[in-house]
Amino acid sequence: MHRIVLIGPPASGKGTQCRRLQNLLNLPTLGTGKLLRKEVELGTQLGLEVESYLSSGAYVPDALIMELVKNWMARHSESGWLLDGFPRTLAQAEALEVDVSFQAPTLAIALEVPQHELEQRIASRRECADCGATVSVGPSNEKNCKECGGLLESRADDDLENFRRRFANYSELTQPLFDYYAANGKLLTINGSGTSDEVFAVINNHFHPSG
Ligand code: AMP
Repeated sequence: MHRIVLIGPPASGKGTQCRRLQNLLNLPTLGTGKLLRKEVELGTQLGLEVESYLSSGAYVPDALIMELVKNWMARHSESGWLLDGFPRTLAQAEALEVDVSFQAPTLAIALEVPQHELEQRIASRRECADCGATVSVGPSNEKNCKECGGLLESRADDDLENFRRRFANYSELTQPLFDYYAANGKLLTINGSGTSDEVFAVINNHFHPSG
């Protein structure tokens, strides 16, 4: 059974590769960042609680995010799963591994993309308000999603200053997970530069080796 976590800096293509992997392996998927943004948009109690973290580029507290993931996992423990954006700290990774309310992952896929490339991606990144696809707009700054025609929107937290804060958090708090998962033999590091098709071809090859 596959239980996969996806790790990578902001704009490394986690969301996109996660959608493709979800289609390939047919696994229930939780994007913690997506879930939190939705709560903020809906103005729920949880949304109000996390809004300031998201808008300042900070991580939300471990206890809060772990509770959310625990509740989700309790409903998806039979099938295997795919997590986009969790764990993001050593405390989260250790809890996922040993806490009986969680299930340990079988694989950690880590996407690596240099910072200068991430900054270029942030400027052109949009999310479809209807189907949730993440796309990169060209010089014509197109307004509608190619897949479903929905409206393309910039993420509220996608300005350069916010990106740099998120990237600094990632380097300090999430990068250590590479060593953590390498040490327990679960790490698959992928070069995340290049097109979505190129990156996915490498991931796909891990599950269906072409010989
Ligand atoms: P993402 O969509 O994965 O870039 O996440 C957007 C934001 O959600 C992050 O910048 C954090 O504020 C918050 N977030 C998502 N997942 C986590 C997590 N596992 N731990 C702490 N904060 C998180």
